[in-house]
Amino acid sequence: MGKVTIAFLGATETVTGSRFLVASEKSKILVDAGMFQGLREDRRKNWDPFPVEPSTIDAIVLTHAHLDHSGYLPLLVRDGFKKKIVTTNYTAKLAAVVLRDSARLQVEDARFAAEKGFSKHEKPLPLYNSEDAEKTLLYFAPVPFRERTQLTSDSWVSFYPSGHILGSAFIVLEVDGKTFLFTSDMGRGNHPLLSPPDNPPPTGIDVIVTESTYGNRIHETPRHSFAEIINSAIKRGGSILIPAFAVDRTEVILMALHDLIETEAIPNIPIYVDSPMALKALDYYRDAIRTNAPELLAGIAKQWESSDPFDPGNLSEMRTVDESKSLNNLEYSSIIISASGMATGGRVVHHLANMLPDPKNTVILVGFQAAGSRGRSLEEGKKEVKMHGKWIPVNAKIVKVESFSVHADGDEMVAWLRKTKDPKQVFVVHGEPDAQAALVERLHSELGWKTVAPKRMQVFEVL
Ligand SMILES: [Zn+2]
Repeated sequence: MGKVTIAFLGATETVTGSRFLVASEKSKILVDAGMFQGLREDRRKNWDPFPVEPSTIDAIVLTHAHLDHSGYLPLLVRDGFKKKIVTTNYTAKLAAVVLRDSARLQVEDARFAAEKGFSKHEKPLPLYNSEDAEKTLLYFAPVPFRERTQLTSDSWVSFYPSGHILGSAFIVLEVDGKTFLFTSDMGRGNHPLLSPPDNPPPTGIDVIVTESTYGNRIHETPRHSFAEIINSAIKRGGSILIPAFAVDRTEVILMALHDLIETEAIPNIPIYVDSPMALKALDYYRDAIRTNAPELLAGIAKQWESSDPFDPGNLSEMRTVDESKSLNNLEYSSIIISASGMATGGRVVHHLANMLPDPKNTVILVGFQAAGSRGRSLEEGKKEVKMHGKWIPVNAKIVKVESFSVHADGDEMVAWLRKTKDPKQVFVVHGEPDAQAALVERLHSELGWKTVAPKRMQVFEVL
């Protein structure tokens, strides 16, 4: 056995840009190729040259479809990567939706910036375009869960359901005799459709790379507060805007609304899903139920055999731009669910610009808001947010509901990781610095593990 290394190319001291390179004498395997989002200084890193020549990478393993794990793939393909992108069936399907949308948004934003002249670039360029995204999709190679798939002469990967979003997985990667566990984004075991992360986790692991998004938090907001927030918003006479990640969060919110309306906890008001990407993802979730996908909770397919879990009763799916614009003048209190989840782009930005100035409206934040995102500014109570070069006053009520988190918290991560038994090296990634440090400290004090929070571009030799 020769030397094996792991390089941390992203998601260090931040939750975005997941990219990890495991290399042996014979193979270079990239785990995730995520886009940096949020802070401008982070987003700039998407433009840095990739530290490894893409044509020399032997395989890419993709843990799930979210942009901060998949969004950099088209650049690698454009710049010469020609091997397989190995992942699960529904990650391949959802990644197609995510990457096409990402390409379209980038081309649009670049055009918009050019017209308005507020870009700092001479001629604003998109990071990649639709052609790059389409080409990327040709390299996807879906494989089943819980099967060992050979990647190269000395490497194998196995995907296990992680309960985070449809298709999501934590993975075991074996390279030249060393075994890695990448948790990627771990679910909490409370998803209304997905089975919880496989538990116990595999043992005999040499190296653990764990996320820490909520490493310093314990979730506890009760679900009933969601109904109270909606009811008080309706009483104020305004409408409700819920920025939600197009993939999965929209589905979870719709199911929660379905439940609240069915139990008459809230009135049956109109609900609009206004995000082309969310609607495409919704179709795949429906497809997964129809085909009883392996990552679903047992009994889900049967339970929803003849009704739609995502239609609370008064659901409209806004597919065209005109339909979207019609929501600017709502007559009755309504709920609009729109992407992106951190309000960094997508139709939700237009709805915010339209709804934030009116104190009667309510914005409900249901997901993690990364530093530097508009969502974070709202969460922090900023009185103005910048959109398309203009400052918009924040008069609407802003509320945060934590119970929809699809990330495990510190307690849940430690309890699960404890069962892997004595890894040789442990790395904590995918968290903002405080969260990362908190999980490092807990793994050290509670499990006695020597744990490192790597810096970006740090390379470690596997012991
Ligand atoms: Zn994710």
